Amino acid sequence: MSEKSYAHASNPCRQCTPLGASWAFKGIENCMSVLHGSQGCATYIRRYMISHFREPIDIASSSFDETTVIFGGEQNLEKAILNVAQQYNPSVIGIGTTCLSETIGDDVDRIIITLKKKYPDLCPLIPVSTPSYQGTQEEGFLRTVSAAVQALAGKYEFLGDKEADKSAEGAINLFTPMISPADMRWIKNVMEDLDMNYTLLPDYSETLDGGMWSDYHAMPPGGTPMERIISMDQGEASLELGSAYPDEWRPGYYLQKRFGVPNSRCGLPVGIDETDRFLTILSEISGKEIPRAYGKARSRLIDAYSDAHKYLYGKKVVIFGDTSTVEALYRLVSEIGMDPVLCFTGSPTGILPKTIERIPQPEASTEPPLIKENFDFGDAESLIEELQPDLMIGNSKGYKISRKTGIPLLRMGFPVHDRFGAARLRMLGYEGSAQLLDRIVNVVMEEKQSKSKVGYTYI
Ligand code: SF4
Repeated sequence: MSEKSYAHASNPCRQCTPLGASWAFKGIENCMSVLHGSQGCATYIRRYMISHFREPIDIASSSFDETTVIFGGEQNLEKAILNVAQQYNPSVIGIGTTCLSETIGDDVDRIIITLKKKYPDLCPLIPVSTPSYQGTQEEGFLRTVSAAVQALAGKYEFLGDKEADKSAEGAINLFTPMISPADMRWIKNVMEDLDMNYTLLPDYSETLDGGMWSDYHAMPPGGTPMERIISMDQGEASLELGSAYPDEWRPGYYLQKRFGVPNSRCGLPVGIDETDRFLTILSEISGKEIPRAYGKARSRLIDAYSDAHKYLYGKKVVIFGDTSTVEALYRLVSEIGMDPVLCFTGSPTGILPKTIERIPQPEASTEPPLIKENFDFGDAESLIEELQPDLMIGNSKGYKISRKTGIPLLRMGFPVHDRFGAARLRMLGYEGSAQLLDRIVNVVMEEKQSKSKVGYTYI
């Protein structure tokens, strides 16, 4: 399915795999990340995450030099882990690999086993293999959530003298792909409105979008407690949100196979259909009615769809970014009467074409959209010039094309570093979809006004 080899990417539509790992580790309480490789990788990732979330981000590095590259990085990793354990006193340390450590073939799993024997009092370590020449930030994120569950679920020995978290028994295990902290807070509100016992992993709703501190915290408060992840084997059910990812990236699949916890999946709850589906699954699992307020929000969204129809029907749109985000946006623009002419992602997994092909063709489309994966902005530019869409929806990396072609870009996904408020961008649920719809309509209206010879008057 891949369009071409990674070697030829020109301005790729993806960031690096350990970036996703570092992001997911931010959703575990008191977890500190170490990247096994050169310092530049940690710096690049910190820079990207800070410019998107506008929060302080600490990521340690095993800090390779020339000798490490030749003789291996075991000693460096040991030193990095011990330093981090001493300076941060974390509950968990997450270790992501980089291109360099993967290329020289460091066996991090073996190094971790040796370290645990040597230092039995060390906190739990979660290694995850994240070579960037093989994946994207999305893959790194999902692999890390899965690795955290595999490393911790059912491992009660990590609790030491502490009691197991009994409150986690019978909880629903909820897993999300990369969404904004504000959308994550919406998911938590839904679970609270339904009075459901849940464990959300990861939970970076506070760590990547927190309040002001009066005292400095080496690790921001918030995140899924390790004890809750350990007790996931006792969950009543799991629910995975996002696209149909490979089994090995899916923590719910693992919990089902290893511990018999029933698992369900639905796409990100964006738009009417997928939000209905999400709420129905929760209602079935919990046996509880969806509160009336949700029905009212749904009704308002349908009303907004009909109000927006005259502005949006048949407008051509290009969507790009991570698989789950592109899938969710595709469903939404189809519901609101737009014509998605091109969907692309930097991910090379084959998931996006299969997913979009299964969704009924939008009413406004005269032909199926072009779906490209392992795609870069170099290729996208000529295609977009040819397709002449009315709008592009995706991350800030599309800015150059937008500037060159004059096609407006609505920023969603990751990274959004040339606009403010990325951590609070909403698209999940009826309200989030309505907020995104408002933004789409306003971009289309603004574009029409700015291109009009007579401007705009209101009598
Ligand atoms: S070398 Fe690899 S892991 Fe490091 S920043 Fe570059 S792509 Fe990411």
